[in-house]
Amino acid sequence: MISQEKMPSLVYFVRAKREDGDDVLAAKAEKVFLETGLKVQIDDKSFVALKIHFGEQGNTGYIKPQWLKNTIHQLKKKTSRVFLTDSNTLYVGKRSNSVEHLHLAWNHGFTPENVRAPIIIADGLKGGEEEEVEINLKRVKTAKIGSVFLNSDVLVCLTHFTGHGLSGFGGAIKNLGMGCASRAGKLDQHSEVHPWVNPKYCTDCGVCFDHCPAEALIHKEDKAFIVEDKCIGCGECLVVCNAGAVKFRWDSDIVRVQEKISEYAYSLWKSLKGNALCLNFLLKITKDCDCMAKDEPAIVEDIGILGSLDPVAIDQASVDLVLEKSGKDILKEGYDVDWSVQLKHGVKIGLGSRDYEIIEL
Ligand code: SF4
Ligand code: SF4
Repeated sequence: MISQEKMPSLVYFVRAKREDGDDVLAAKAEKVFLETGLKVQIDDKSFVALKIHFGEQGNTGYIKPQWLKNTIHQLKKKTSRVFLTDSNTLYVGKRSNSVEHLHLAWNHGFTPENVRAPIIIADGLKGGEEEEVEINLKRVKTAKIGSVFLNSDVLVCLTHFTGHGLSGFGGAIKNLGMGCASRAGKLDQHSEVHPWVNPKYCTDCGVCFDHCPAEALIHKEDKAFIVEDKCIGCGECLVVCNAGAVKFRWDSDIVRVQEKISEYAYSLWKSLKGNALCLNFLLKITKDCDCMAKDEPAIVEDIGILGSLDPVAIDQASVDLVLEKSGKDILKEGYDVDWSVQLKHGVKIGLGSRDYEIIEL
């Protein structure tokens, strides 16, 4: 009998660094896209959504519009219906409604002149335009996804790979799972997160109060205190607290939130029936994601651009390259989070494979 061994997922890779310059990076991204996108069905009627994070105001790590121009040009040879998209955020910032979100995207250079494609915010004016996808998995029965993602024929998931406070790293899985969820979908995933303030470390500086979108923080005996009933688990207080006073129950909360993220990613991936691909940009890899409203230094040298039809494989390959380049688990150094949960759960539910073959272009 012939063995039916599963083949490893292919991950295409080109080495790149910011010093290459915009034109070279655009050509390198195009090269990875062309190799990866060969099998994706696109005709002249296809709506092609390029899912991206435009970067919070003050952030400098986001994928630059200039790096996408060749890829968009290639897509537009097949269909004129190409657009950039993201969903609104849960937290206070310039991306919590479509109007400010669009202004911010323009300020970061995502103008029609630069990218030759319009922007459509995926979940409407205030994040309420969603569709439900029934998946009946361990953590999520019905996922709530921004309607534009589900109404598109093809999805190109463009991810700036970074560290992350809740998931250890933010890659394609997080970009799909959390990044494509509607406001209610994001709330659903964050509802697993229950932070608390360790009074021993809190200096009562007040910074977390300014960033909390739910007014869940109060002063108690000259320390910050989180009112659990009000907290929506967005994790903002964790990233803004320089004293390290905000704590999570890493073992339970972090496992649940990562598993939910993977299940949300699966709901969208399954709905797209294979008409989707991922590009991960391992350039200016920062400790936090592009939701941070500030310029953060890179934690490791630039590595390159990866492409795959498998969101688990591309994230596993990205992690492996980052760990290899830094010579240690630099992701765990940022936040003491077991980042492997999202990958392991992704395999378990059929989102993809951790077994990959890297093809350097
Ligand atoms: S940011 Fe940190 S140190 Fe400052 S009040 Fe909040 S918990 Fe306390
Ligand atoms: S207390 Fe922290 S996690 Fe809870 S809503 Fe406020 S900022 Fe978000």
